[in-house]
Amino acid sequence: MNKKVRVRFAPSPTGPLHPGGVRTALFNYFFAKKHGGDFILRVEDTDQTRFVPGAEQFIVESLQWCGIQFDEGVHIGGQYGPYRQSERKPMYRQFAEQLIQNGSAYYAFDTPEELEEMKENLKAAKVASPQYNAITRVNMKNSLTLPQDEVQRRLDSGESYVIRFKMPRNEEVRFKDIVRGWVVFNSGQLDDKVLLKSDGMPTYHLANVVDDYSMHISHVIRGEEWLSSTPLHVLLYKNLGWENEMPEFAHLPLLLKPDGDGKLSKRDGDRLGLPFYAINWTDPETGKTTLGYRETGYLPEAYVNFLALLGWNPGDNREIFSLEELVQEFSIERVNKHGARYDFDKLKWFNQQYLRHLSDDQLAEKVTPILSENGIDQSNEFIQEVCRLMKERWSFIQDVWPSTKFFFHDPTSFDEQVVSKKWKDQVPTLIDQIQLGFQKIEHWDALSIENSLKETCAAHGVGTGVVLQALRLTVSGEGAGPAMFEMCALFGKEKVIQRIQFALKTLNG
Ligand code: GLU
Repeated sequence: MNKKVRVRFAPSPTGPLHPGGVRTALFNYFFAKKHGGDFILRVEDTDQTRFVPGAEQFIVESLQWCGIQFDEGVHIGGQYGPYRQSERKPMYRQFAEQLIQNGSAYYAFDTPEELEEMKENLKAAKVASPQYNAITRVNMKNSLTLPQDEVQRRLDSGESYVIRFKMPRNEEVRFKDIVRGWVVFNSGQLDDKVLLKSDGMPTYHLANVVDDYSMHISHVIRGEEWLSSTPLHVLLYKNLGWENEMPEFAHLPLLLKPDGDGKLSKRDGDRLGLPFYAINWTDPETGKTTLGYRETGYLPEAYVNFLALLGWNPGDNREIFSLEELVQEFSIERVNKHGARYDFDKLKWFNQQYLRHLSDDQLAEKVTPILSENGIDQSNEFIQEVCRLMKERWSFIQDVWPSTKFFFHDPTSFDEQVVSKKWKDQVPTLIDQIQLGFQKIEHWDALSIENSLKETCAAHGVGTGVVLQALRLTVSGEGAGPAMFEMCALFGKEKVIQRIQFALKTLNG
């Protein structure tokens, strides 16, 4: 690579950022950082009719949560700003006019009614996809069909017009896509896209190409849905005389529904009752909030790892990668062409893996704020030990509080099902004997507790299986939980005995 790598993520603020958008941003980021390049956030807001308030902030915050950082962008500025296309509006007209000068674009004065009429006529003539193109333009009102003086008169009188690209009638347009190899389109399939709208705002196509050029973008890495726009972009580079500066293209595969049947959509998350966006999204129109992964207790590291493997693989069967490792390992040549299934269960699995693989002190750091919210103030040492005992049982940070309450509050009630199944016959008496045995323990640790319990059971001629669950019930109020002797060791002798005595009183009374 001889050019300095500069890539951009260029979302349109038309709604909440879709997982496919997050994945595109990630791949751009990995690629930029791997090659010591720059990563830019450019907001493509030229379509004012689709503008959604809050969407830009949502995009920035979602990516911040993922832990990726930009070198330049709408929120941080930079040498090639402004980075919001609406603020660059005056820059684009000159390029549209340059294209008119060299014969590759033209003024079009057609009214919406005239455009509608053309479409109706073409439909009536059984044209499959009626469009403004090399064939139909000859019957329309534009600077290619009207006499030059009339064109001038219309322009001078301030009549409304757009500038359209003059798509060649029958030309092969080819470009090399890093993911797909050579891609060939025939220009006959393409229409005369509007480049500059009647309000002077560029369309996506013109703004995108002008900005990629003027921001020195070296690689355009974007979703597959933009592949069909690329021939037009290639022609724009050529006709603007920028062919040598044209970026390389890489179109990323689509994200598919969990069953692989069609494009992923928010409804797939809704159907499963699962979050879909990185963070909470509140629709500015309805005020309705859709839960995000952040708020549901997913770890950003797990989310990033999951997305990284949608359409890319490391070439072997490794699956767990930190952000730094992804930057090291990523190669755009290993991105594949076929769509990637968005498997919500796999995302959950990643989250579990990350929770389990965090060290006790890393996990304690995440757990402490949740405990504080619930009024718990415990030593870091105690919390770390709770994490060690419990992490195998958590899939989400949100599981922490409901599953650990009993570590911090003495139980006041006891799981009724376990009571009715296990609290019978000689069990209450045995539990009482066990706590008497516990009172004699000098070194309160898991092994001594276990031994003491075994001794008491042996003395009464029963196996420990008879009392284990009942004992857990007295200490935690629940029938299941972490390794019991270790849990008792953590509580300390006094608390364990006090809890057992309280349970005996409550359950026997
Ligand atoms: N604004 C386009 C989008 O919303 C950008 C496509 C591109 O990266 O060129 O995805």
